[in-house]
Amino acid sequence: MLGQMQDWPLTVDKVLDRAAQYAGDNEIVTRRADGSIHRSNYATLHARAKQVSAALLDLGIVPGDRVATLAMNSERHLESWYGTMGIGAVLHTLNPRLHPDQLAWIANHAGDRVVILDSMFVPLIEAVKDRIAAEHYVIIADRDQMPETSFAAICYEDWIGGHGTDVQWGGFDENAACGLCYTSGTTGDPKGVLYSHRSNVLHAMISLTNDCFGLGYQDTVMPVVPMFHANAWALAFAAPMVGAKMVMPAAGMDGGSLYELLDTERVTVSAAVPTLWMGLLDHLRAHNLMLPHLRFVAIGGSALPEVVLRAFEQEYDVRIGHAWGMTEMSPIGTVCRLPLGGEDAPLDEQIVHKLKQGVPLFGTEVKVVGDDGAELPWGTGRSGRLLVRGMAVVDRYFRADKTALDADGWFDTGDLATVDDSGAMKLTDRAKDVIKSGGEWISSIDLENAILSHPGVAFAAAIAMPDPRWGERPLLVIQPAAGANPTEADLRAFLADRIAKWWMPDEFAFVDAIPLGATGKVNKLALRETFTGRATV
Ligand code: ADP
Repeated sequence: MLGQMQDWPLTVDKVLDRAAQYAGDNEIVTRRADGSIHRSNYATLHARAKQVSAALLDLGIVPGDRVATLAMNSERHLESWYGTMGIGAVLHTLNPRLHPDQLAWIANHAGDRVVILDSMFVPLIEAVKDRIAAEHYVIIADRDQMPETSFAAICYEDWIGGHGTDVQWGGFDENAACGLCYTSGTTGDPKGVLYSHRSNVLHAMISLTNDCFGLGYQDTVMPVVPMFHANAWALAFAAPMVGAKMVMPAAGMDGGSLYELLDTERVTVSAAVPTLWMGLLDHLRAHNLMLPHLRFVAIGGSALPEVVLRAFEQEYDVRIGHAWGMTEMSPIGTVCRLPLGGEDAPLDEQIVHKLKQGVPLFGTEVKVVGDDGAELPWGTGRSGRLLVRGMAVVDRYFRADKTALDADGWFDTGDLATVDDSGAMKLTDRAKDVIKSGGEWISSIDLENAILSHPGVAFAAAIAMPDPRWGERPLLVIQPAAGANPTEADLRAFLADRIAKWWMPDEFAFVDAIPLGATGKVNKLALRETFTGRATV
């Protein structure tokens, strides 16, 4: 017997419809590329997104067609998202930090018909335009600020200004494709993840719960994580879903610019990868500033360094949610929160717990399996491969001819983890990054985390070096903090009582800047090429 409740398709257009209706005056504040501040609101955003839809229909875009954006976080980027998704077309976020060759490959693989781009990314399109099969380029700019281009370009404001708002949204299946995002290829060829309306809506709903962002109508949210990095971790859907004010930092990602927005716009909740927060913390300390409005920050994408956690929680009284996920999971899988009564535990115990990636949110199942494929029991301390399945997890990559899942419907994340006796997961490494020394595993994450507590270290990356005796031994690449000059002897002494003896890196290398990949994480592929002279993956 079926239930007898209404069929109300979970499509993302409804998210913005509601925001415009009940939070129409709530602002979307954007820092423009020239540093100026622009103010819109949900009512305006809704109307302009409808104009985007009308303009796309005029270009002949039909449901299922891919429309790409190459843009930083801004209200016009949001308009493009909702304008595309609302008519059943698929919004593909291109990552402007990718190498042009990879960008061209991805755009063609996706079959993008239209590319909507920030003017700052015109040079990127100039470099690849002969290799991309897109039919139209729309530049997000006012008429008087249109850049010179050697390709035919449409001015965004003219484009939408020429259209009305009388467009029908929705009316399609909730399982229809909605968004497309490629993994950034840090571990091989980029792969496209094709989200559905239903998976995006459900994922955003669950991200609103207290154990994740805990967002509401009265919050002001600043997604520092870019919209092209796994849907800004749900925030581009979750914030409008509750009508929360949004603050979009666009290209201003330095500590000073971020602080200014956090302070003047009274941001309560934010999210980004750890590297970005390190810049903010440096700025706060250098200028003796505090964060009185900020309540919660989600940090993920790579392991949360203890120094960052302690700084936010102890110096600035901001709660941190250490989150783990991936593009294939929309992206949030787990978030770490203290269990009931956890605040009563000694502070150092709390810190140990909070550095874990935590337990899955509803809608995601996780299990850790050993080499034989059998699930490892909780609390053994043994590390194994982390598998997931759930309502917003990939089944098959875009254009792949077979599923990415095993026979039981599990997706292998390529990550390695342990699970404690409360079910909280701790990532030990990526399978491809772990250092296998004499048959035992050394966690590159733990090594990096240990050395990052040294005040003279800004960034660190541990990579495996081939070793005739042990198979592999760790090399620790160090980017010293500004003005610091730590020596190898200092670092060895510092690590001596923080890691097992056999984990001590055989070599240290000092570099001016550790290379970051397209999503702001350490690019270990590049480091391996530099230090081993071989292109390991
Ligand atoms: P890419 O694979 O291109 O880097 P993703 O952003 O999808 O793109 O990366 C997902 C991966 O990032 C995860 O599989 C995991 O290895 C890593 N990751 C994400 N969150 C964390 C975290 N909190 N701690 C450690 N690693 C993380």
